[in-house]
Amino acid sequence: DESARLSQSPDDLPSVSVSVQFSDFAYRTDEGKPWVLPVVKKVESIIVNDTTLNHEYLPILGLPEFRSSASKIALGDDSPAIQENRVGAVQCLGGTGALKMGAEFLRRFYNGNNNTKTPVFVSAPTWENHNAVFSNAGFEDVRPYKYWDAQNRGLDLAGFLGDLESCPEHSIFVLHACAHNPTGTDPTQEQWKQIAEVMMRRKLFVFFDSAYQGFASGSLDKDAWAVRYFVSMGFEMLCAQSFSKNFGLYNERVGNLTIVARDADNLKRVLSQMEKIVRTTWSNPPSQGARVVAVTLNSPELFAEWKDNVKTMADRVLLMRAQLKAKLQALGTPGTWEHITDQIGMFSFTGLNPNQVEYMIKEKHIYLMASGRINMCGLTTKNIDYVAESIHEAVT
Ligand code: PMP
Repeated sequence: DESARLSQSPDDLPSVSVSVQFSDFAYRTDEGKPWVLPVVKKVESIIVNDTTLNHEYLPILGLPEFRSSASKIALGDDSPAIQENRVGAVQCLGGTGALKMGAEFLRRFYNGNNNTKTPVFVSAPTWENHNAVFSNAGFEDVRPYKYWDAQNRGLDLAGFLGDLESCPEHSIFVLHACAHNPTGTDPTQEQWKQIAEVMMRRKLFVFFDSAYQGFASGSLDKDAWAVRYFVSMGFEMLCAQSFSKNFGLYNERVGNLTIVARDADNLKRVLSQMEKIVRTTWSNPPSQGARVVAVTLNSPELFAEWKDNVKTMADRVLLMRAQLKAKLQALGTPGTWEHITDQIGMFSFTGLNPNQVEYMIKEKHIYLMASGRINMCGLTTKNIDYVAESIHEAVT
């Protein structure tokens, strides 16, 4: 057959599956429903009634007032780096797009040209897409760094620091800014300081992934502590921000890649290259989500209302954590359950082993990942007794 074919045989084009339960990553109310934030509803009606707006293309790098206000919530209003004009941003399609644009830039330009050999380290475990996004951008050496201590159900700080000490200089490290997915375990401020010290000394590059700002503690500022600390230490860095979770704007694909450069001239050159990468990827970004975020962040009243909405979500998760732990302790379930409230953000590593997970799924129809990871938002005041009793049965 001489005609133009997409493939000649199934061997040329195998069928692959991308099985992702997107609901696993989303916030749910106590009724188990998606939540449109009240502030988002309000801002959407402002936008729809604004007769000055149109559907012309946005600039390649995105809506200027979105990019600057988004970077400000990551770095803080009073960030010296912003005042020194060395912070810039690229509006991206979600946090994934921000990681992708950052990875494409680093592969091309970081530490010399076309760096396919530079090791990129991602936490073990991590959000699975980290591996694929970086290898897809051309990095040939994406590796795990030690993070989770399964025995003690906490951070493996010694292992993490050991990997920072022994990796090649100039390696790239992807760090979860807060509310680590999937373990729910973040370094403490003291631990972050140790991590930063080694990274600075060993000339390692920091790429923060900030997908859950506000979800860890309920406070945007607290959740940005690590990012701001690294900036204050003088690191040049990238920070991929997602507004999918903290604005509930999952399908609007609104993300931001914040760039903290050495100086204003360097920033200008980075942004010019970013423009070229974006131009050949999506040419220019969509506007609705970015407008919602920009209008909200640029109005003191709406900003306050948003912070309140974020706190509502974070508080519900914290309440479910506290209740689940209390119920397991009341039942006398063997093992310690402190990690349920020590962990933060949407996810929890329950510590259930694969047999126990299978029992939960087969016998109790409670669906969790084989790793024992649950999305805390699956818990509601109506099902929490059943879940606690089921965990008790699975463990005993
Ligand atoms: N990073 C992490 C750690 C995530 O969990 C997610 C979403 N599950 C993302 C990035 C990507 O977010 P977005 O949907 O905005 O692309």
